[in-house]
Amino acid sequence: MCFAVTIFESREDIRCAKVVKGRSINLALSHRGRQALKHIGIEEKIVSMGIPMHARMIHSLNGKQSPIPYGKKGQYILSVDRANLNKELLSVAEAYPNTKLNFNHKLLDWSPETGAMTFHGPDGNEKEFHADLIVGCDGAFSATRKQFLRRSRFNYSQTYIPHGYLELTIPPRNGDFAMKPNFLHIWPRHTFMMIALPNLDKTFTCTLFMPFEDFEKITTGNELLGFFQKNFPDSIPLIGVDALMRDFFRLPAQALVWVTCSPYHVLDSCVLMGDAAHAMVPFYGQGMNANLFIYIYAFFSAAVLPEYTRVRAPDDQAMAELAMYNYVEMRSHVNSRYFLFRKFLDNTLHFVMPKTIIPLYTMITFTRTRYRQAVIQWQWQNKVKLLETESAVSVAPGNTVPKHKFISPFSLRQKRSVWYCFHIGLQHLPGTFRRAGLGSQGGSCCSYVKDPDQLPIRAMSDHKALFSHHCLHAVPE
Ligand SMILES: Cc1cc2nc3c(=O)[nH]c(=O)nc-3n(C[C@H](O)[C@H](O)[C@H](O)COP(=O)(O)OP(=O)(O)OC[C@H]3O[C@@H](n4cnc5c(N)ncnc54)[C@H](O)[C@@H]3O)c2cc1C
Repeated sequence: MCFAVTIFESREDIRCAKVVKGRSINLALSHRGRQALKHIGIEEKIVSMGIPMHARMIHSLNGKQSPIPYGKKGQYILSVDRANLNKELLSVAEAYPNTKLNFNHKLLDWSPETGAMTFHGPDGNEKEFHADLIVGCDGAFSATRKQFLRRSRFNYSQTYIPHGYLELTIPPRNGDFAMKPNFLHIWPRHTFMMIALPNLDKTFTCTLFMPFEDFEKITTGNELLGFFQKNFPDSIPLIGVDALMRDFFRLPAQALVWVTCSPYHVLDSCVLMGDAAHAMVPFYGQGMNANLFIYIYAFFSAAVLPEYTRVRAPDDQAMAELAMYNYVEMRSHVNSRYFLFRKFLDNTLHFVMPKTIIPLYTMITFTRTRYRQAVIQWQWQNKVKLLETESAVSVAPGNTVPKHKFISPFSLRQKRSVWYCFHIGLQHLPGTFRRAGLGSQGGSCCSYVKDPDQLPIRAMSDHKALFSHHCLHAVPE
């Protein structure tokens, strides 16, 4: 069946625009996104204009750089230019004879009952269009979604994380990249981090992710320089002092929003897709990949809309939570020996049993395994790896000195009345690893909370699987 498709976009046609406004300059493209691009015949074109990143490159405070590969030899993610990708997608869409593009048309409102949509047109007047099915792909702040909010039994949550982001640029040096290009560079500083992705013009786009309250403390050039000298000293000569001062203060830090909703459809007249349905924080580099992938696998007829919500929503929820988790991994865990040990263990087991043990990152980034399925598989693998072995360790929460016990992530729900001790580090590894002589080295950062919802990230309290990267102890009161 062939539909007549009309696309409405509030911005001008970026293929003709002098300045392309929008979010991050480049994006990490991985397997799912590539599969979608292959489906529409532009994978090779986009890949040829992308820069492979085989590993994270961790920048320590002392300037030391250490790579951590993303997967097996030959596996990589690609840094691609967002504007260029969007331009190519528009050209592909335009080439379909049944598709018409309308730019400078901003959706104001629509009716679920009649399918009538009202747009603010390029001439400043309101225009009305009708459609049998409306597909709302209008991003995290979707205007399409507003109608959903007026309806009963529509669940919706919008969370701004306390961190924002700001982009800086590392220019080319002597006509070449100023750092090694085939890496995603990370400066992990526990509560904040800076990353840098390479661009085809031999620049790097750096993104500083940091709590808004820390951004707000930096109000002068001297404060900024002091902050960079303390936290990212090796980046100052790369960015340049003048450019740093100029770019840092040019725009305020941007917010990061996490949106979940359900159902994704209203009657048989509208369905939300992409960030409009499930905006996630960008730390797993999956938002765009997930969205591209959905677009090709959704076959529209009214009958499939409820099924689409039923099948897709758990995957999006799982991915959104993993994305939040990965922020902690990127800004903090990558510094720890425990993380490196886990990576080593995962990779070794994967090498020995490639079909049975697959690292989580590999499942998400280099396969098409459903996100929810990947999380379930990860939970199972962690069990196999005995990371949920019970251990008895004595640590005092506040004034008490009870015995406390490593609890399985799976039993969290039943343990709501206990104190939760949240560890990152080596000191309190479960028994198996302590017996292996690993538990006594290194430091750990640890905090106690009464309610698991107060754990460092909300996702963790909801998503049992996410605990297994940490040693979580429950202390009976
Ligand atoms: C800093 C940052 C870095 C990221 N990095 C990555 C990454 O490395 N890899 C990755 O996979 N994902 C990444 N993402 C996520 C990715 O950008 C999003 O998931 C993706 O862009 C969402 O696509 P979308 O089409 O659903 O929404 P959008 O890209 O937001 O597109 C929505 C479109 O709808 C239009 N629109 C909005 N309102 C209206 C209206 N009322 N009427 C008509 N048109 C309208 C907008 O102009 C826009 O063109 C990142 C996100 C951020 C913020």
